Amino acid sequence: MKRLVAGILSAALLTSAAAAASTDPELSGVEPAAAAAQTAYADLEQLPAYAATMEVLLDGITVKPVGYNIKGNNYYKLRDIAALLSGKECQFNVTWDGERRAINLVSGQAYEVVGGELGEQPMAQQTAALTREPVYLDGDTAALTAYNVQGNNYFKLVDIGEMLGFQVGYDPQTRTVLINTPVTPAPKPDVPDEPVIPETPETPEPETPAAPETPAEPETPNCVDGVLKIWIDPGHGGSDAGNVSKAVAGFDAPWGVQYAAGDPISEKDFNLAVSQMLCEMLEEDGVEVRMTRTDDTTVTASTRQTLFSTEGGGYDMIFSVHHNAYQSTAPQGAEILIQIAYENGGRGREFGELLKQEYMDMGQSFRRFVFQHSSTNSANDYYFVLRSARAGGALAFISEFCFMTNPEDQLWLLSEENLRAEARAQYNAIMEYFETHEY
Ligand SMILES: [Zn+2]
Repeated sequence: MKRLVAGILSAALLTSAAAAASTDPELSGVEPAAAAAQTAYADLEQLPAYAATMEVLLDGITVKPVGYNIKGNNYYKLRDIAALLSGKECQFNVTWDGERRAINLVSGQAYEVVGGELGEQPMAQQTAALTREPVYLDGDTAALTAYNVQGNNYFKLVDIGEMLGFQVGYDPQTRTVLINTPVTPAPKPDVPDEPVIPETPETPEPETPAAPETPAEPETPNCVDGVLKIWIDPGHGGSDAGNVSKAVAGFDAPWGVQYAAGDPISEKDFNLAVSQMLCEMLEEDGVEVRMTRTDDTTVTASTRQTLFSTEGGGYDMIFSVHHNAYQSTAPQGAEILIQIAYENGGRGREFGELLKQEYMDMGQSFRRFVFQHSSTNSANDYYFVLRSARAGGALAFISEFCFMTNPEDQLWLLSEENLRAEARAQYNAIMEYFETHEY
């Protein structure tokens, strides 16, 4: 992703869906009470927010999203950007998850208008506070800086662009923000097929015309060739940090960074460290391993979806390594996210049980298996990793070993030995599973 003056420009966005649940228009059907929303933020540090006055060009055409400049960065209204991009390759929808009290972005889906988009330009000056609500992209945590102004949340445009695949630049001579959307998908060598675009509600999955709540388990794995091939997916990376928490203790990280208690720690680093350890263990056993990333580079959700849906079928398993977070510190324990095709049993659940046992054997508590259906098409997986892997015919899992937001759980991550134990548990489960399953 090209970033012309990314440091100066962190343009950003706002969503009315991001107001607290009680004031969310999509839940309550009423407009958020700005005063109530402001009261909810009154305990947070208030910063001045100035009306963003730069010209914005979208693919060369002047557009007028509502924006503010906060601490030197531009932030634009999320729903304005979503409305502007609707119909383009990188379109996305914005919904409110009342259960998780989170903002959901759904990539590839046309934007559903709620009213008030691209409205009046902002007041000259307001106050802003860091927003409380977490943001999810296609079901996965998205690390984004956001500010709440007058009950609405504003995000950095470059962040959204990197996640959804459009370019954001800045021309300092004309003080113009430049948004460029891809006209055609980037060509993929040796993959003739078009990249898979996530289904819209109007497009049911072809294999399940009767739309049962849970699709049938595929009869046989499609990658049986006598060679065990595992695709490890270290979650997030680069500009996408995943969840960011505060270290509850000092920690000498295996990636060469010394953290003091209270320092911010990023999920992406732990995901990569555990993945690399797991990769080493598997390779020592002669397993063919592919890694989505081997360093701290950005891999967008749409890139991952394209990769898994077009190349996932060549692997016996896609194993995505994540670490969980929540807006309160209470939840703890391991979660294993499994494709909905295995909700009633079968290969997915069998592996899930093995991994659960391995995690429990090392002393970690187990919270739950998650079989989450897409809210727009119940025959689809909610999580894009699982959904796109299934589209490619691959068995896939997401491991959320612990909650980084729970102090006790986080201690699992704060030693190299513990990280290795986590990887060892994953290795054991994978090897045990393929003792009794074809590959
Ligand atoms: Zn994650």
